Amino acid sequence: MSTTTTNTGERPAPVAKDHSQIRQKRMIAKHYEELAHAKENGKKVVYTFVPGNLTELIESLGMLPVLPEINALQSAMRGRSAGYIAEAEKSGHSEDVCTYVKCDLGMVKSGNIGPTGEKLPEPDLLLLSYTGCFTFLKWFEILREEYKCPVAMLHVPYQQDGVVTPEMRDYIVRQLRDDVIPKMEAVAGRKLDMDDLAARLGKSAIAEDDLVAVWESARNKPSPIDGYFGGVYYIGPIFTAFRGTDDAVAYYRELRAECEAAVAAGEGPMTPDGRLDKQKYRLVVEGPPNWTSFRDFWRMFSNEGAVCVASTYTRVGGLYDLGFRHDPRYPLETMADYCLGCYTNLGLPSRVELLEKYVKDYDADGIVVHSVKSCNSFSAGQLLMLREVEKRTGVPGTFIESDLVDPRYFGKANIENRLQSFLQMVEARRNHGYGGAAVAV
Ligand code: SF4
Repeated sequence: MSTTTTNTGERPAPVAKDHSQIRQKRMIAKHYEELAHAKENGKKVVYTFVPGNLTELIESLGMLPVLPEINALQSAMRGRSAGYIAEAEKSGHSEDVCTYVKCDLGMVKSGNIGPTGEKLPEPDLLLLSYTGCFTFLKWFEILREEYKCPVAMLHVPYQQDGVVTPEMRDYIVRQLRDDVIPKMEAVAGRKLDMDDLAARLGKSAIAEDDLVAVWESARNKPSPIDGYFGGVYYIGPIFTAFRGTDDAVAYYRELRAECEAAVAAGEGPMTPDGRLDKQKYRLVVEGPPNWTSFRDFWRMFSNEGAVCVASTYTRVGGLYDLGFRHDPRYPLETMADYCLGCYTNLGLPSRVELLEKYVKDYDADGIVVHSVKSCNSFSAGQLLMLREVEKRTGVPGTFIESDLVDPRYFGKANIENRLQSFLQMVEARRNHGYGGAAVAV
């Protein structure tokens, strides 16, 4: 990866962007440009969520996706979420409601201005692919009241026992065939072309292969990627509006080549302060990041020489490193399998197994659970999961808390202290074989 600094503690020189980053920026800008002019160009707009998204289907019908969680996190990164959340709370949404929802609703009430400063178009359809989060359902009920537009819902059965049965797959396929696709065709004003859909699914599989190679590059020492903080950028195209497109194929091909070049050169990943070549700690992270203080949060790790070699959050919109790929030969079945396999649709035993696998496969020194106040889908059972993974792997863990997009819950000093104590304990264990169990609260 092309970079200009290393983490030496000196003031970093400006950081050069990788080609893949530049490409991703261009893709996003083009998408928002299309959204800004969607209505005048007669393009239909579908609001939908990241886990279990049916991007290939939406685009095959000539429609454009908008992802409200992405709007919320981008608002947070631009320092706007506090105002939007306050706006939503003023209109009666309780403090306990997921802050993604409140941030989005506050944004809608404040003019629905997207990240590029242009107004986002209203939805022609709300497409709810239900993968494990009840909040999604309530969120779209509110948006349905707001926009008075049709809703298509795909109910995805929860993977309670960690297996996908033929009945579960058939149940989803039937819904797609008999209800979801006809509703989408009615909004799009055209019939679905199965060959076009299959071609898009084939492109998804190519990009998914390259993304898995990127994740697996973290087995190297030093790891050329940060699989959590850097990882949220890597998943951008494949989790949002671009899976199944030539742009996404090109992006992941380029990203993979950059990772391979970094491995060959023995280089670490970029961080907010330059490249992290000297890596003291390899961590696995469970839970979403904090977006309001994203760079500060990242620095707490990188300043200590800690690199995140794998994370579960980066599997929330598709779990490819266990082998799933979209299969163009069976378009509806493969979309069903994709939805069933998203991380938020997995039960706790499957999540523990995944974390255990990551700790072992990536030779991690520790596990960090970042528990966010907003998200029951992620937070329920996390402390139990941490204990279990520690027991199975013998690797210590820590538990830190904040929120997704509500800055009131990000206690910088508190989080930093806890992380530093944890890393000291990892160090003590490494040097002397002691240091106790988890640093948890
Ligand atoms: S509760 Fe969690 S999964 Fe559900 S909408 Fe909020 S952040 Fe997303």
